[in-house]
Amino acid sequence: MTRTVEEINKKIANGEANIFTAEEIKNSIRNEEKLSFEDVDVVTTGTCGIMSGTAAIFHIGVTEPGAFQKAKKAYLNGVPAFPGPCPNEQLGSLDLIVYGTEHSIKNHEYGGGFLFKDILNGEEIDIEVETIDETKLDKTVTIEDFGRAQIIGTRMAFKNYTAFINPENDVVNSIFNGIPMKGSFDQFTFSGCGELNPIQNNASKTLIKEGTKILLNGAKGTVIGSGTRSSDIKPNLMLTADMLQMSGEYLGGFKTGAGPEIYDSIAIPLPILNEKVFEEIRILNKDINLPIADIHGRHLPLSETNYEKVWGNYDERPTFNFEKFNEKDNENIKKSCPTNAINENGTIDLDKCFGCGLCVHLSKNTTYTMNIGSVDFDIENKTYNVPITCRQSDIQRARKIAIKLKQLINKGEFKI
Ligand code: SF4
Repeated sequence: MTRTVEEINKKIANGEANIFTAEEIKNSIRNEEKLSFEDVDVVTTGTCGIMSGTAAIFHIGVTEPGAFQKAKKAYLNGVPAFPGPCPNEQLGSLDLIVYGTEHSIKNHEYGGGFLFKDILNGEEIDIEVETIDETKLDKTVTIEDFGRAQIIGTRMAFKNYTAFINPENDVVNSIFNGIPMKGSFDQFTFSGCGELNPIQNNASKTLIKEGTKILLNGAKGTVIGSGTRSSDIKPNLMLTADMLQMSGEYLGGFKTGAGPEIYDSIAIPLPILNEKVFEEIRILNKDINLPIADIHGRHLPLSETNYEKVWGNYDERPTFNFEKFNEKDNENIKKSCPTNAINENGTIDLDKCFGCGLCVHLSKNTTYTMNIGSVDFDIENKTYNVPITCRQSDIQRARKIAIKLKQLINKGEFKI
């Protein structure tokens, strides 16, 4: 049996389409409910995690036409931006490219990801411009001053990720852990939303291609094509959407052992066109391998686990235990929180929290508690058990954006 995209869009327009999130499909399989190809028209998939390939293209008016010839350098809240490619000669405005991974020259804990979130949340942004005739301009802007803002992700929504451990006795600064990673076998960090991930649900890659409509950080966007470094074994996507339509809840900065990074959230609808596609979306976390690599070398897996072992039935957010709170001890934990979600009084700002688990690890599961699990694996015939200490993907945001996409389709506001 088959159906076409046109048939599905017609059903959507008539309010007759059967739309499920990937999570609903997986739960129905686990509950041994009988869902068949006839019952499912579209499945909405989602992922959220650190996506270093994120960049934004801005056009911002900063002063009167004629005030300067051309910008040489620009900084937004201290985050370096690349002026151009259009010089906007004598126009008093800037075209800028800003990397989500760029670090502020004024605050080593602030970077592009935090900046993008601040812009979307309507915060005031300080822009410093150095012009080619050696003059300087300083201006405060808000999102209202951005004529255009577009995000391009050069490599996003990777199908396969890697977990990392440090088997040696040193400390490694890396973007693959929220803090410098201590050895030996002290911490376990991983990325990926497993069975919710878009490409993971379309192994044949027949549905997600150039022109596929998506949600990127809450805004309607498009797949441009394959991402950089994408391969048959490790596919990823190049995506784009209008940043001014995005919501700050879905993207932001994430501090790591090697400085601030950026996270994004993506949802992609999968039209269930035939039985083969329907079979593909039945993949479960237990069937998705997660290689475990040495954080020193990064590429060579030492062992492996699967996504059932890392997401399982664990908690998604920590609990703050006020009776254990000690302001002095908490200072380091607060500083280490990758998304700055811990308030002065120790409480957690759940809108900012990523559920990474670092506060739980650093407070030895007392001030902040969460069942986050541990992973057993073998290396050279020896078994190790290492606590999961940093999740660099957020299953809650992945779920939320997949549900948002389902709701938009159901309302007829998003066509496949
Ligand atoms: S789990 Fe803890 S450390 Fe991680 S983002 Fe939430 S409050 Fe911060």
